[in-house]
Amino acid sequence: MRIFNFSAGPAVLPEPVLQRAAQEMQDWHGSGMSVMEMSHRGSEFTSILEKTETDFRTLLGIPANYRVLFLQGGALAMNALIPMNLLGTKTSADYINTGEWSKKSIAEAQKYCQVHVAASSEDRHFTYVPPQSDWQLDSDAAYVHVCTNETIGGVEYQWVPDTGEVPLVADMSSHILSRVMDVSKYGVIYGGAQKNIGPAGLTFCIVRDDLLGRALPITPSVFNWKEQAEHDSMINTPPTYGIYIAGLVFEWLIAQGGLAVMEEKNKAKAALLYDYFDSTGFYRNPVDRADRSRMNVPFFLHDTALDAAFLHSAQQHGMLQLKGHRSVGGMRASIYNAMPIEGVRALVEFLKEFERSHG
Ligand SMILES: *Cc1c(COP(=O)(O)O)cnc(C)c1O
Repeated sequence: MRIFNFSAGPAVLPEPVLQRAAQEMQDWHGSGMSVMEMSHRGSEFTSILEKTETDFRTLLGIPANYRVLFLQGGALAMNALIPMNLLGTKTSADYINTGEWSKKSIAEAQKYCQVHVAASSEDRHFTYVPPQSDWQLDSDAAYVHVCTNETIGGVEYQWVPDTGEVPLVADMSSHILSRVMDVSKYGVIYGGAQKNIGPAGLTFCIVRDDLLGRALPITPSVFNWKEQAEHDSMINTPPTYGIYIAGLVFEWLIAQGGLAVMEEKNKAKAALLYDYFDSTGFYRNPVDRADRSRMNVPFFLHDTALDAAFLHSAQQHGMLQLKGHRSVGGMRASIYNAMPIEGVRALVEFLKEFERSHG
């Protein structure tokens, strides 16, 4: 029996994708092989990789002067690879600090370059996005790094920063494909696949081609974006099964009607939760309304002594992985593309019922 899975990541996948993967597990399209058993350079897998990239490009409207790389190492590896690949002759980079994932990016980048924190929302416990009018950008920075959806704090940019000539680099791990996006406003978009795309082990990197060729000489070849771009992400064996599942998810998204349709669905799902939290004193979401995430909705019970009972009862109602991140406590409902609105409705009904019996 399937439950409603509110995990922040690895996270819920669309049921039709899991069913299709199961059907094709032992014999992909009459090849007599599982995708896991194929040569990454054979014609079968090459066709999977090409289709996956094409559909990703179609969904996001990725312009022709951007390269799509499918890498390994996760978003955390990218935190090191961004300065390694983008510094060139520069020595510093600007970072906007909006929460736990920004902090991790900053800490890693500090090993490779001078990090200038151009704006931070730490003064109010990372409950908002600092407006661009408060950013102290350095025009000589190699790039400006943002995390456009803070998975732990539940803070999401609802606007695209303007960094002029300095490339904008965005960690979009937890909201890629959740809404219509203008890729042309960014120099680099990256993230781990395990939130809103597919299984862990696959990392996506969308990079504007004029930014290739700036890597520090010490950059490992498998992490050198220019080398990977020249070899279609195949310097070595790419995460083949992860790419295949991502491809099935992209097909599913296209069949749903694409990102404009997903955006409307995600808005409606998030509104169900936020409207309820704003109508009661029993639960509370701490994020400024304008900056609330549509993907990750943290919330707190007014009486934290009820947390354990809440989680236990939620589990009994078939709703799992609602515990908040250990760094902030409380609860968190992650409602990625693959979470149906029925799951969010069921959660709201449960929230109401728990409030009635414990309020
Ligand atoms: C999950 C997450 C990460 C870490 O990703 P890994 O693939 O585990 O390295 C980084 N940034 C954001 C915004 C995330 O949600």
